[in-house]
Amino acid sequence: MQRNDDAPNTFSGRPSLLGLRPDDLYAHLADIGVSARLDQCRRALAHLLSDGESDLYATRKPLAKSFVADVLAHTEAQRLEVVERVTDPADGFVKYLLRSPDGALTEAVRIPLHKEGRFTVCLSSQVGCAMQCVFCATGRLGLTRNLKAWEMVSAFLTVRDEAPGRVTGAVFMGQGEPLHNYDEVIRAAEVLSHPCGGRIRAESISISTVGLLPAIRRFTEEGHRFRLIVSLTSALAERRAELLPVAGRFPLEEVAQTLRDHAASRPGLLTVAWVLMAGVNTDQAEIDALRELLGDLPLRLNLIDVNDARADGFRPPSDAERARFLSGLQVLGVPIVRRYSGGKARHAACGMLASRALQEDASAG
Ligand code: SF4
Repeated sequence: MQRNDDAPNTFSGRPSLLGLRPDDLYAHLADIGVSARLDQCRRALAHLLSDGESDLYATRKPLAKSFVADVLAHTEAQRLEVVERVTDPADGFVKYLLRSPDGALTEAVRIPLHKEGRFTVCLSSQVGCAMQCVFCATGRLGLTRNLKAWEMVSAFLTVRDEAPGRVTGAVFMGQGEPLHNYDEVIRAAEVLSHPCGGRIRAESISISTVGLLPAIRRFTEEGHRFRLIVSLTSALAERRAELLPVAGRFPLEEVAQTLRDHAASRPGLLTVAWVLMAGVNTDQAEIDALRELLGDLPLRLNLIDVNDARADGFRPPSDAERARFLSGLQVLGVPIVRRYSGGKARHAACGMLASRALQEDASAG
């Protein structure tokens, strides 16, 4: 497993505008002796990250061209290179393959929402992943490196600018474990939700995790408005440790307490994801254990069929097996949504990537 956190920051080595909030740009310009005001930094970012249609800050009071030139001379505005776009005609998902300055490839997916003309973007947070989930192709790659915030924002802006309608949400559910790259993912989410950045409502940004408890606790303490999706996938300790080897190291009682604290810290339902695997985690023992473990929490349960391309890999349950599990779960009395893992026809679905869960999560946000 190779780890390279010293990957080039941008194409030029200068800080990327795409990973900066107005305060950061202000501090950077001050550091290098360029005189600027905070409101100029706000308007410069709003202008440079704009989709061209809602450039509120810039149009209210036009920026001096010399200031924009100064900003561009001391920062980087270039985006990741688009290597490939693949559209799945069956469901309208569009998968983007993007190249970073060091050659690393990353993926993003444009997902149509139920509300016509609206989209959300599924973003990767790492190149590869260290979590080793046994049903996931990315997990078998190992971790190459963390993505920088600007790379995630760049992926988002590229997808947004090419969308034939409004992009109203983002979800960190692509390659990688977002909370394993905590600082950069939170920074990216802050830029995406900033009025001078991506202008997405914070509540419409979801961050998925296999359940890294120290990071969930930090997320809870910091009080972010972004939404968490926690993949449980088994409520039986031994089975969970086999399926999710890294996350499975945390005792389930500790997982439950951490989720309880998180749920208590904010209104609304806590989303728990469950990757369905035929003959593996759809039995009555799971239902009983889940009820025992999280039965007192305000949950929403997302069921997602496994998507394993290997000939001898995990398979989604049959309709009968799935219906039996669903019916048994009714005892929990919580909303249960069966999700669709989109883009399969063109291999635009990777592990947990691009689940149609996002369609409703984003709509609900
Ligand atoms: S399912 Fe997610 S966390 Fe697990 S290995 Fe795959 S990308 Fe990583």
